[in-house]
Amino acid sequence: MLHVLRRIVLEVGAAGNLTEALEIIVRRVKQELAIDVCSVYLRDPDGDDRRLLLMASEGLNPEAVGHVIMNAGEGLVGLVAERAEPVNLENAPDHPRFKYFPETGEERYHAFLGVPIVHHRRLLGVLVAQQRERRRFDDEHVAFLITLAAQLAGAISHAELIGEVDNRREVLQQENVQIRGIPGAAGVAVGQGVVAYALADLDSVPDRAAASVEEEERAFRQAVQAVQDELAEIRDRMESVLPPEERLLFDAYVMMLGSDSLVNGTVERIRGGRWAPAALRDTVRESTRNFEDMDDPYLRERASDVRDIGRRILMRLQSHVRDPEEFPGRTILVGEDVTATQLAEVPSERLAGVVSSRGTGSSHVAILARAMGIPAVMGVSDLPVGRLEGRELVVDGYRGSLYIQPSPELLEEFRHLQEEERELADGLRALAQEPAVTKDGHEVPVYANSGLLADIAPSIQSGADGIGLYRTEVPFMIRERFPGEDEQTEIYREILQSFDPRPVTLRTLDVGGDKSLPYFPVSEDNPFLGWRGIRITLDHPEIFLTQLRAMLRASQGLTNLNILFPMISSLAELKGALQLLQRARDELLDEHYVIPVPRVGVMVEVPSAVYLAETLARRVDFLSVGTNDLVQYLLAVDRNNARVADLYNALHPAVLHALVQTAEGAHRAGKQISVCGEMAADPASVILLLGMEIDALSVNVAALARVKWVVRSFSRARARHLLEQCLTMEEPAAIRALLDNALVQAGLGGLVRGAGRA
Ligand code: PEP
Ligand code: MG
Repeated sequence: MLHVLRRIVLEVGAAGNLTEALEIIVRRVKQELAIDVCSVYLRDPDGDDRRLLLMASEGLNPEAVGHVIMNAGEGLVGLVAERAEPVNLENAPDHPRFKYFPETGEERYHAFLGVPIVHHRRLLGVLVAQQRERRRFDDEHVAFLITLAAQLAGAISHAELIGEVDNRREVLQQENVQIRGIPGAAGVAVGQGVVAYALADLDSVPDRAAASVEEEERAFRQAVQAVQDELAEIRDRMESVLPPEERLLFDAYVMMLGSDSLVNGTVERIRGGRWAPAALRDTVRESTRNFEDMDDPYLRERASDVRDIGRRILMRLQSHVRDPEEFPGRTILVGEDVTATQLAEVPSERLAGVVSSRGTGSSHVAILARAMGIPAVMGVSDLPVGRLEGRELVVDGYRGSLYIQPSPELLEEFRHLQEEERELADGLRALAQEPAVTKDGHEVPVYANSGLLADIAPSIQSGADGIGLYRTEVPFMIRERFPGEDEQTEIYREILQSFDPRPVTLRTLDVGGDKSLPYFPVSEDNPFLGWRGIRITLDHPEIFLTQLRAMLRASQGLTNLNILFPMISSLAELKGALQLLQRARDELLDEHYVIPVPRVGVMVEVPSAVYLAETLARRVDFLSVGTNDLVQYLLAVDRNNARVADLYNALHPAVLHALVQTAEGAHRAGKQISVCGEMAADPASVILLLGMEIDALSVNVAALARVKWVVRSFSRARARHLLEQCLTMEEPAAIRALLDNALVQAGLGGLVRGAGRA
């Protein structure tokens, strides 16, 4: 059974569109279960959301497909949808809810089994099996259909979004299609989609019209020739290494390239007006499907050969690099997994926004986008990447939403928002040089988070009181090997000097989890609970000592260095780190460097550190709360997983109580505590942090002025009062509402818009 299920899912995955996918499902299910009818009904995107439309059937009258509609509360299919659970009947016509549709020819069937297709708690449709004889489908049949429906739900949801549910109408042609993701970088942008796709990945090739059919055909034929030559060369090279029967494979490849189906199929599509990569993508899909349908396992395997050849041709086609002039004036870069290099390829004056299917606000690309002041939306799991080339898009980086084909009204709304943004930014600019002091005179400096040298200038201009978090892993990530001591010293020195005498907090290397170094791969089942941050650097003292020495050397003659240890979960780890720091300093003193004593801090981002706050604080100069990780570990919600992003909430009462406890622990030890996770950039949360008497905040540059505005607009006493109220509340949404209201009352209504995550 498992084998059959897998095969069906694979076949469906290879289908070019939803109609084809549904046809495969009904045909294969009917065949595998040896039943008389298999049908799929999906929610009718044209009408009432609860209406179900017969989308595919093997067994019912073909004319009924696309026509039979079940209204809400109608028929057995409607019953399955209402209950969102399977309905298994021996004799369907006996059931009071049975409804007869003459056009289906359904009267002949007695046994009925319907299972719901559900995606993220939302009903998408119903999968139905019917049989002429009277019988109850057995458990195995039910289990089979439930499993299949669950596996197909994601694919259907995606197809629904990209407009394939309704063949008669391309949903993406509609206005204001909204797709939700996760906020990556604040701001709003209107622009034109440009798809960034991984080279040689056929599936991510976007649809595009051929600018010149002749040119596309010529490029394609050249690419085919180049691959043919390349394969012939490989075959010759392998002559001495492989036995003749294995070398046949390459002959087969060369033959496939000469075959009509691949070359002519692609050329035909090009002549139909598509650009070569998309024509190739569709031809390869068609051809692999034909192979996959074959019974002979050897021939089925040939599907992967076709895909391989397709990728090779694609690579040749892509040797053309996009000219900077080809990027539209307001480029919205969209992709499955937008990388920092793809971002860097777009001339910065043309880059207006970024949208990525993978990743979240903590991804490198999002950090880069924030540093550049470009709105970004991440984790848009249903992103129809291939359909966005050239489309007009609106990126709402506050709420983490993308709008496709915005209507003139929506555009107007966003233009208005942008205008307000500009006004707000102009107003806030004046705040840059003002101190971050609460209304009752408590100074709560607002520092900047950083990780790129390019951030330095904007950080200084934005009026940052210093750097509260410099993520040193970023310079490690963009190199091809560990940077050496001198190289690191130079990077750290530049940032320390730029801010002197304002404090700069350099965090020691925090790789692992979602941040990997290309030259130091770590592969684990549970990377966030694995070898990460301080755990790695303690196990590799040679890497750690090099970094600590570089930090200390960089601080010569300056007094603003703070060193911060990430991911501390026990006192033993802190002691280990402090020992190595001491050793690095001793070594440098022996080498006659004059090194001031740095301030040292511990990040509180693992729940155990919350309970150890006082103990840890006694051994260092300050604590810094990394709420990005603390929230994920407290709530057991992967910060990078878009599927559970709704559950990730810094205003969860458990998080608030943990923060209060941490702040109290630090203060009992007589030490300062700051917050450097994204929570500190959320205006509503800032009120609570002020109430907890957090001593400093560190936020991304784009949020700096707003946060300063909040600090200057509240007294600590008022903030404490609001905190006390919030601590008695049970629901994050209610807490958010109370705080938003407080912001509005304090005249900061303009900030509420960007806040809403709870
Ligand atoms: C955090 O976890 O809140 C933090 C600031 O560190 P990072 O986002 O780099 O893990
Ligand atoms: Mg962290």
